[in-house]
Amino acid sequence: MIIVMKSTSTNADIQHVLSFLEHHGLTGHPSQGVERTVIGVLGAISPTGAPGSIGGISPAIGGSIEGLAGVESVFRVSKPYKLASREFHPEDTIVEIPVPCVAGGIVGVGGASVVMMAGPCTVETEQQLMVTAEAVRKEGAVILRGGAFKPSTSPYGFRGLGEDGLKLLAKARKEFGMAIITEVMTPTDVAMVCEYADILQIGTRNMQNYMLLDEVGRTQTPVVLKRGMSATFEEWLLAAEYILAQGNHNVILCERGIRTFEKTTRNTMDISAIPLIKRLSHLPIISDPSQGTGRRDLVGPMSLASIAAGTDALLIEVHPNPDEALKDGAQSVTIEQFRDLMPQVHAVSKAIGRSIITE
Ligand code: PEP
Ligand code: MN
Repeated sequence: MIIVMKSTSTNADIQHVLSFLEHHGLTGHPSQGVERTVIGVLGAISPTGAPGSIGGISPAIGGSIEGLAGVESVFRVSKPYKLASREFHPEDTIVEIPVPCVAGGIVGVGGASVVMMAGPCTVETEQQLMVTAEAVRKEGAVILRGGAFKPSTSPYGFRGLGEDGLKLLAKARKEFGMAIITEVMTPTDVAMVCEYADILQIGTRNMQNYMLLDEVGRTQTPVVLKRGMSATFEEWLLAAEYILAQGNHNVILCERGIRTFEKTTRNTMDISAIPLIKRLSHLPIISDPSQGTGRRDLVGPMSLASIAAGTDALLIEVHPNPDEALKDGAQSVTIEQFRDLMPQVHAVSKAIGRSIITE
């Protein structure tokens, strides 16, 4: 259920509606728009932390809410996800990331400009990370990616340096002023990873790890939620809803390719997800053409296609020597390829009336 407040409603009106909801065992999530406030209503959060059902809200309560001071209208959201829906929040959400190397120190993901996030798939050595960070920063990336806790399909694959990898990322942030995005895999690691990360990445394999979603939802750290490799839009947005329902509204969705019958590419990059998510949701959507294709030669074209389709950021794997990478070398572009791609990224952004934030 969504409560639309009148544009003339006061803070006291809003507080009164929130207390009324609480009294009936419901949770109100206010969202302040330019013109008016809307309040998303969820059933009470259960003791296990799972978001409550909206089905339990009786029509009678809806009717009483309509009579409260400052309330313009009450309507039911037709989608199973509520807080993630466009209906709840008609304006685009902009997730703000602290980035020391840009003027003003903040970068908005989901606003007018496109944000470049780049770096190695996995932090391997200090030298590999620093060389890559310096190079991608020089070309205009403002957010540094690098996995320290890596999901590995094979238990014999490289699983990352763990906290030592996070320490190297912190060092790179200090040196180059970039923000850090890195993956967190378990609820028990969330607090520790938050000490290093500016953005938490939830990987495709964990999109439906509900305890992990709850836990990152209890922080205020921005989260990039990768699309599960076989997830429908509804499942993906319901996963986002878990994070939002816990109170963390800094959620960014990431298209990273889905599994299809095709074997020539690692995944099938679903470019249509970008404009479609923008219709269904107010959350920013970004694009990862590296996992999306699994092929270095396709990263450039898919980056440009993503920008043309409206992506809010690109997340690109770059390695100084991809043939020797411990992970995802085949899909990592070289520093030279990244450099050659940047003018094209600028040109396509300009063609659709957007720019790239680089400083
Ligand atoms: C990655 O970004 O390196 C990664 C493992 O991503 P995904 O979870 O999308 O496979
Ligand atoms: Mn990778």
